[in-house]
Amino acid sequence: MSAKIIDGKAFAATVRERVAVHVARLKADHSITPGLAVVLVGEDPASQVYVRSKGKMTVEVGMNSYEHKLDADTSEADLLALIQQLNNDEDVHGILVQLPLPNHLNEDLVINAIDPAKDVDGFCLSNVGKLATGQKSMVPCTPLGCLMMLRDHHGSLSGLNAVVIGRSNIVGKPMAALLLGDSCTVTIAHSRTKDLPDVVRGADIVVAAVGRPEMVPGDWIKKGATVIDVGINRIDAPERGEGKTRLVGDVDFGSASEVAGAITPVPGGVGPMTIACLLANTVTACSRANGLIEPDDLTV
Ligand code: NDP
Repeated sequence: MSAKIIDGKAFAATVRERVAVHVARLKADHSITPGLAVVLVGEDPASQVYVRSKGKMTVEVGMNSYEHKLDADTSEADLLALIQQLNNDEDVHGILVQLPLPNHLNEDLVINAIDPAKDVDGFCLSNVGKLATGQKSMVPCTPLGCLMMLRDHHGSLSGLNAVVIGRSNIVGKPMAALLLGDSCTVTIAHSRTKDLPDVVRGADIVVAAVGRPEMVPGDWIKKGATVIDVGINRIDAPERGEGKTRLVGDVDFGSASEVAGAITPVPGGVGPMTIACLLANTVTACSRANGLIEPDDLTV
């Protein structure tokens, strides 16, 4: 293996430490405790794991965590009423609605009901528009975590060729906007892209956010490129015993790490950074809500 492993787990731990310092300062100097409300509708097992982990880390950095677990058949009106209540709650500085929502609920409507100042996921239209036009916004946590790891590894990203595979609203598009903001030359690839291997071979930076286990092999990667693997895919692992599974990314780690200059592992790469950025965004939202200078060392 030649690639440097970008240790998202360790990086996320340092971000959480910085968050905890700011939380302690807000408490000591201003008697304010940042609060994050997480809303989970239904019982999707993966979502339950994410919500539990977010709640645990929120408390660990000294913030208040408010978990709202609603039945899978909760009506849109009831969900919107809860969001309104959280919008009006001064103790709540960040609101996150865990996606995906059950099919009978309109995700766009629900996300856009969140007060943009408390939209710590950065998914509502005003935050998306601000990011796209280079204004101060709430930046979606997963792409933000990816950007931080890239900046940490490269220093400046200016002029580098970046290929983002995937054009979702929660990862691919905001990732491309952030890379453009850092002066990369950005290509967004998707399921209709012609000759994807060739497109990827031209990239100094590859961000894979597809949701297809190990679909990017090492021979698509330019020698020395930096590979950020956003994918989280659970696959069967009979080698670990009957019925066992394991997590893999969208990149074939074994072959890609032979050619890449640096690569994130799955698990232990993008995932932990996503939660750390959520906590950082909540502190930022809390500082802005209280007219305080927002921390400038959390998401660098
Ligand atoms: P979506 O399903 O919303 O988007 C997937 C994208 O991949 C689409 O744009 C799709 O193209 C594209 N795609 C699908 N097949 C191909 C293909 N064969 N070639 C090229 N592009 C293709 O997924 P998300 O963006 O929500 O998530 C992507 C992955 O990241 C998932 O594994 C998810 O679990 C993971 N994830 C991880 C997070 C973390 O914290 N680490 C957070 C969020 C997501 P098209 O638009 O044309 O259909």
